[in-house]
Amino acid sequence: MSRTKLMIPGPVELSPGVLEAMSRPVIGHRTPEFDEVLEYCWDILKKLFRTRNDVVVITGSGTSAMDAAISNIIGVGDEVVCCTGGKFSERFVEIVKSYGGVPREVEVEWGCAVRPEDVEEVLSDSSARVVTLTHNETSTGVLNDAGAVAKVVRDYGAVFVMDAITSVGGDDVRTDEWGVDICLSGSQKCLAAPPGLAMAAVSERAWEMMADNQSRGYYLNLLKYRGSLKKSTTPFTPSVPLVMGLKRALWEIMDEGLEARISRHRGLARASREAALALGLGLFADPAFASNTVTAINIPDSLTDDDVRGRMKRDFGILLAGGQDHVKGKIFRIGHMGNVGQEDLLEVLSALEMCLDKSGFSFKTGSGVSAAEDVFSEK
Ligand SMILES: *Cc1c(COP(=O)(O)O)cnc(C)c1O
Repeated sequence: MSRTKLMIPGPVELSPGVLEAMSRPVIGHRTPEFDEVLEYCWDILKKLFRTRNDVVVITGSGTSAMDAAISNIIGVGDEVVCCTGGKFSERFVEIVKSYGGVPREVEVEWGCAVRPEDVEEVLSDSSARVVTLTHNETSTGVLNDAGAVAKVVRDYGAVFVMDAITSVGGDDVRTDEWGVDICLSGSQKCLAAPPGLAMAAVSERAWEMMADNQSRGYYLNLLKYRGSLKKSTTPFTPSVPLVMGLKRALWEIMDEGLEARISRHRGLARASREAALALGLGLFADPAFASNTVTAINIPDSLTDDDVRGRMKRDFGILLAGGQDHVKGKIFRIGHMGNVGQEDLLEVLSALEMCLDKSGFSFKTGSGVSAAEDVFSEK
């Protein structure tokens, strides 16, 4: 099997148009032609983030934007309230520590959503001026109630940093309405662009905080990016082919329409959940906070990760994501973000049924596919 179908939460498959855009001859990055490309990207990104703030684009994976968000606003000894409950939210804790900050964790069990009242409790007993949240926790398939957490953060006058890396472009992200001061995303997830670019939408309040901050690093000094943005450029050489790919991916998003795109993702998520339940598989995330871009499913006790993911890869060339850290081997995740269509998910579910059957798991043949079809047929 030479083909691999990516059904993981990033990187995702690229459209022919994006591949073509990346393969064109490289153009100079200090040219009016490239300035226009950047301006187009910034403009569309603002729409996807639903913000009037500047959105800077960094050459680096999503983590580079997380790193920048923290390094630009904290100093040694500063407390930062970090909402955790999965691999990516825990990354903020590590980043804070790496800059000498003091993380104050608001922890939930993996698979559960952050409780705003817990955030309030920790904030009320802390000197923290910064709160971090992972909007869509990709490792557990939980979509947190960002609006509710944002409200608590605002009540305490803190700066709200949100990782929206697996929600921008696939789900509703209301940067300005919620009051997200630094909202982050990455290219290889819902935007269906190549891996290697990260974005940060920064509020006026956060820019001021950065200007007052003593340390901010060099390459990821966001104030430099802002200064360049005013001149329609970037501070350092960006990855031109990746930016070309991003531009085309953003054009395709606008062509589909943001609302239509969000509703496609929601339909895929619901179909994935209904299919899992119909097959007798348990869902890992609290159903009240289920992600619309990735679905985490429990591996039955009688099966191993290889029975599910191994077979899917070997027999059908379909790549699913596994569990991380302590849920490794206990869950698998279907990424249904980016360009994934109903036909892709039906193919995956059909293959999944065959793998489960071969592994000796008993269920009614066709029940998963049928449950997904029912969701897709609803008007
Ligand atoms: C993928 C991802 C990231 C960043 O990962 P990179 O590998 O650095 O691009 C951060 N947060 C979440 C929620 C993610 O899914």
